[in-house]
Amino acid sequence: RISEETSGRSEYNLRSPICCIMGHVDTGKTKLLDCIRGTNVQEGEAGGITQQIGATYFPAENIRKRTKELKADANLKVPGLLVIDTPGHESFASLRSRGSGLCDMAILVVDIMHRLERQTVESLNLLKMRNTNFVIALNKVDRLYGWKACDNASIVKAMKQQSRDVQSEFRMRLTQVVTEFKEQGINTELYYKNRDMGKGTFSIVPASAISGEGIPDLLLLLVQWTAKTMAERLTYSNEVQCTVLEVKVVEGHGTTIDVILVNGVLRDGDQIVVCGMQGPIVTSIRSLLTPDAMKELRVKGSYEHHKEIKAVQGIKITAQGLEHAITGTSLYVVGPDDDMEGIKEAVKGDMRSVMSRVDKC
Ligand code: GDP
Repeated sequence: RISEETSGRSEYNLRSPICCIMGHVDTGKTKLLDCIRGTNVQEGEAGGITQQIGATYFPAENIRKRTKELKADANLKVPGLLVIDTPGHESFASLRSRGSGLCDMAILVVDIMHRLERQTVESLNLLKMRNTNFVIALNKVDRLYGWKACDNASIVKAMKQQSRDVQSEFRMRLTQVVTEFKEQGINTELYYKNRDMGKGTFSIVPASAISGEGIPDLLLLLVQWTAKTMAERLTYSNEVQCTVLEVKVVEGHGTTIDVILVNGVLRDGDQIVVCGMQGPIVTSIRSLLTPDAMKELRVKGSYEHHKEIKAVQGIKITAQGLEHAITGTSLYVVGPDDDMEGIKEAVKGDMRSVMSRVDKC
């Protein structure tokens, strides 16, 4: 079952990091996600990868398999990685979790042929504003003239297979990208040469979403880096931390909310408070749903019901009165000793911060 096997805490009591993908249109954000998921499915290695509500969950075991050739420390410390599915900076900009960004880390995708583009710079500004760490996926390396595909290989191995001409074109384009980042006030370096990661120099992972080179590197970098540098932020807490991703009408279920549960446990019947257009909405969870594990890739709209779900997960919640719920805000669970008025005040605070963001746009 999804809730027990593929989520929860690691032996280090860390939760899974949450990552979102940003970048200019057509740089390959969607393809990159497909590639990370797809190759596994085709090779019969889907092993625990679950497409969740608005996100994809990659268990550590799966990441370990895919990164074997990098001879990484087998102990990944985090139980897995949750990647928010909706690429684009609206998902990053609008999603907050208890005052800070929902995403622990971001992947900024840059097309090696197009270098920095308008939305790359916009994404960079958002990342700087939120103080969110990120890695740069320098995508479409297979478009270098004469590139020899090395399916799903690490980028160092793939690069060694290339002719001098390809390597030299790569270096030239990389230098241009590094220069353009510098013009934006950002120091960057190839990830395997970067000794200053986290101290002001951001890592570049060359990759191809078509043939998969560099994908092992990207996955490993994300899980290792988050575990190493965000132990405090990623320490699992029983206190529910949950963000509303989408409000949707679903046939047979009425208005539902899709949420990312960052910490804690949600249970069937829990009394919850979410932010609504007309003020706090107090309601009870009628059902906790995730896409049916067996059918997730083929049949849309088929759900598995859960009595309880532990973070980190993407979940669909059905309840009464969700029609005017607002995305990007927190969901609160009312415990037996909680002060309802205090929770409502917190929800109103969320509402005010949403409104001020709308004003700024
Ligand atoms: P998004 O708008 O950033 O989500 O970009 P998409 O994932 O939709 O990709 C845009 C186009 O670029 C599509 O035609 C993809 O097939 C293509 N594409 C994406 N990644 C790669 C890659 O690594 N190599 C090549 N050659 N094409 C790619």
